Amino acid sequence: MCAVRYNTPRVNLNLNVRGLQQSATLRINELSHQLIREGRTVYKLGLGQSPFPVPPAVVDELKANAHQKDYLPVLGLRELRGEVAEYFQRTQGLPFSAEDVMVGPGSKELMFILQLVYYGDLIIPNPSWVSYAPQASIIGRKIHWMHTHVTSNWHISATQLERLCQSDPDRPRLLILNYPSNPAGTTYTMEELKALARVARQYGVVLLSDEIYGELHHNAQHVSIARFYPEGTIVSSGLSKWCGAGGWRLGVFLFPKTLHWIRDAMAVVASETYTSTSAPIQYAAVRAFEGGLEIEHYLQQSRRILRNLGRLIWQKLKDAGVTVPEPRGGFYLFPDFSPYQDRLFKRGITTSEEFAERLLRDTGVALLPGSHFGRPENEFTARIAYVDFDGARALAAAETIPLSKPLGKEFLYKYCERTLVAIDKLIAWLEE
Ligand code: GLU
Repeated sequence: MCAVRYNTPRVNLNLNVRGLQQSATLRINELSHQLIREGRTVYKLGLGQSPFPVPPAVVDELKANAHQKDYLPVLGLRELRGEVAEYFQRTQGLPFSAEDVMVGPGSKELMFILQLVYYGDLIIPNPSWVSYAPQASIIGRKIHWMHTHVTSNWHISATQLERLCQSDPDRPRLLILNYPSNPAGTTYTMEELKALARVARQYGVVLLSDEIYGELHHNAQHVSIARFYPEGTIVSSGLSKWCGAGGWRLGVFLFPKTLHWIRDAMAVVASETYTSTSAPIQYAAVRAFEGGLEIEHYLQQSRRILRNLGRLIWQKLKDAGVTVPEPRGGFYLFPDFSPYQDRLFKRGITTSEEFAERLLRDTGVALLPGSHFGRPENEFTARIAYVDFDGARALAAAETIPLSKPLGKEFLYKYCERTLVAIDKLIAWLEE
């Protein structure tokens, strides 16, 4: 009897997926855990996960809603959609209503569906978060990376966008702008946003404004570009970063009325794929977006810790001669280590990938190479996620220091120790 013969799976894979690996952020996390299981000491500056716990009021709400078992509407729980719209009215003065909101199992999934239903080129700054480009390649969209430089905070400019649009003015385009930025920790000024909005409007570019780190602006001064280009901007946010709930998987998109046709197309795909977002999580999210004193206080302390820690790391790297823009929000830095290029070459390190691998092997510090964010392979850039510390402990300790006072070195070495030890190890390794 002839044995059943299967083609090797590789051959039957969709061409757009063949050769792709799992997302770099998740791989570095799993590799770090594997090394820890093997007994290695690993400093986890790879995955960008909030170090802080979910606020207790939101956890309580999840407990109280564990019994919610029904499928919810595809676009999301009505009450949550209303609360999200109100939140953006309150914090950004944006005139959204419940109808404008779509809830999904993480903003990442919503971004994928957006790219699937919207037919146009993807425009992203270089560097950008690791998943925008792979999503576009899986779907088969053309990707246009916009070059940036460390000296301009890794930001794109309106002039650049204008030049691109002028080259083929009627081409449909989707620009993703993420600020405060993953991977850079910088954020666009109001003037930069206004200028970008002007060009986007002129050429009818659909803008996806990824504001997942908005609440983690270190000085609580986040401004949405939707204020300047409301009719063409989809705002993206979720619970993962400011609410410490990455694993809960809850993201939201807000659409202007002019783009409800995109919302409707996305709802079709959602209904045929994930159906609706987890019911208990949506009920708990109502509490998160409702805000109030307790959540505001939690955010104030989270920002304070991140602001002080980010600045100290930035200062340390600068003192060591590394080029790195000052962080303004979130929990990332994207340094350029090229001042160490000659020393790295002598050690046989020629790419950012080798840089990250050798650093991990020699010191236990896990971070992500710049190449995963679109940077040239032979450029010594990397993303540092300064999140390897016990956020609950740090929050409790910050309570004992008046808000008017900065959290000094002593505090940071005590409560964010692993992260700072990792930075010291990184610098010592560079200087070896
Ligand atoms: N956004 C986080 C990061 O960049 C992790 C989540 C993810 O990539 O899916 O590290």
